[in-house]
Amino acid sequence: MNRVVMKFGGSSVATTDKIRDVAQVILNRKKTCDQVVVVLSAMGKTTDNMIKMAEELSKNPSPRETDLLMSTGEMISASLMAIHFKSLGIDSVALTGFQAGIKSVGSHRKSKIDSIEPQRIVDELRAGKIVIVTGFQGINASGDITTLGRGGSDTSAVALAAVLGADCEIYTDVKGIYTVDPRVRKHAKKIDQLTYEETLEMANLGAKVIEPRSVAMAERFAVPLYIALNTGDVEGTYIRKEDDMEKNVITNISKKDNVLLTIVNESFGKESRITECLKNLADGDVNIDMISHARDKEGNQIISFTTDLASKALVEEILSTMEMDFEVVVNLSKVSLIGSAMRNQVGVAARAFGVLHDEKIEYYEVSTSEISISYLVDVDKENQLVNAFADEFNL
Ligand code: ADP
Ligand code: ASP
Ligand code: MG
Repeated sequence: MNRVVMKFGGSSVATTDKIRDVAQVILNRKKTCDQVVVVLSAMGKTTDNMIKMAEELSKNPSPRETDLLMSTGEMISASLMAIHFKSLGIDSVALTGFQAGIKSVGSHRKSKIDSIEPQRIVDELRAGKIVIVTGFQGINASGDITTLGRGGSDTSAVALAAVLGADCEIYTDVKGIYTVDPRVRKHAKKIDQLTYEETLEMANLGAKVIEPRSVAMAERFAVPLYIALNTGDVEGTYIRKEDDMEKNVITNISKKDNVLLTIVNESFGKESRITECLKNLADGDVNIDMISHARDKEGNQIISFTTDLASKALVEEILSTMEMDFEVVVNLSKVSLIGSAMRNQVGVAARAFGVLHDEKIEYYEVSTSEISISYLVDVDKENQLVNAFADEFNL
């Protein structure tokens, strides 16, 4: 008995015509797979619009009700798909996260999947139905609906694939994972296969094509992942454990906008309060990314760190309350080169710095991991840098 979970994102189900097209793709897949579970996102920009409406009514919309509101987006697309299937005489059932047995934990708007009780889904599959599950939502121990963070339908799909012992296929509006976002670079190349590690790194570094937590979960539970165009007839990208293909040094360039840089000056002689500062930021749920530290000849310290721009007000409030000497820089973007082959290759950093020099692009911060190098640059230099890197590394 073979099983598959097929996930379609918002742009793939944005209109009823698109729902019809996707239904056909699902039916074609059903010809070669006995049991099909479909995970859907909300139609088009529905989630964005709901958040906008909530913010029109409240400066700080209540998280519980915002989750309830946002969860309806996925219920609409899932119900419409089942209504369409049934009109064609095809047995199917639409289930909410709750009905599908998806239990969640953690804060509203960024909860995690705790466990899945898949009996209802298994029963419906055994009865021969196509099972359509709302992405992005679960039910917590208090019986409240929670959502899994933006892009969370990918995580719903991978989690369901893990408990159902199925492969997970993510269908979207591009033909797979490219060396560079194809909207930024027209002649970017589609990648046939990637490791989980590389995919996770690029997702974390801003490539929106797949949500990072879903990749981490796929790796943990060894769920085979496939990312492809929503027409289902073009070969996409396979994400696997081992990749022994010969590869370029760099497999991918990712970018992340809306980065905030905060620079803190701590003059010599004063006891450094940076630990306390970082603790207060953590208590405020502010996620810190790049951190750097320098000491000048006089012993003054300069500590800088990046966060999401959305945390700006909170960062400023926390640092002002502590009476720290700081400044913030906005309109920044983080551009990253990623590839596991980087681990064994020399000279990548030299070539990367050479590109910044030749392009006369100033950078604020640089950070590296075993398989990536990231630069923080002004947002108006972002696409220039992405394309210059792509030229240099032939991506
Ligand atoms: P969905 O609605 O299907 O979840 P998303 O908008 O979340 O789709 O993700 C698909 C988008 O990801 C593409 O339209 C593309 O612009 C963007 N993207 C960013 N980086 C990449 C990349 N390296 N390869 C492919 N797509 C990318
Ligand atoms: N609809 C949700 C969002 O827009 C979840 C998803 O699309 O994966 O973030
Ligand atoms: Mg997405």
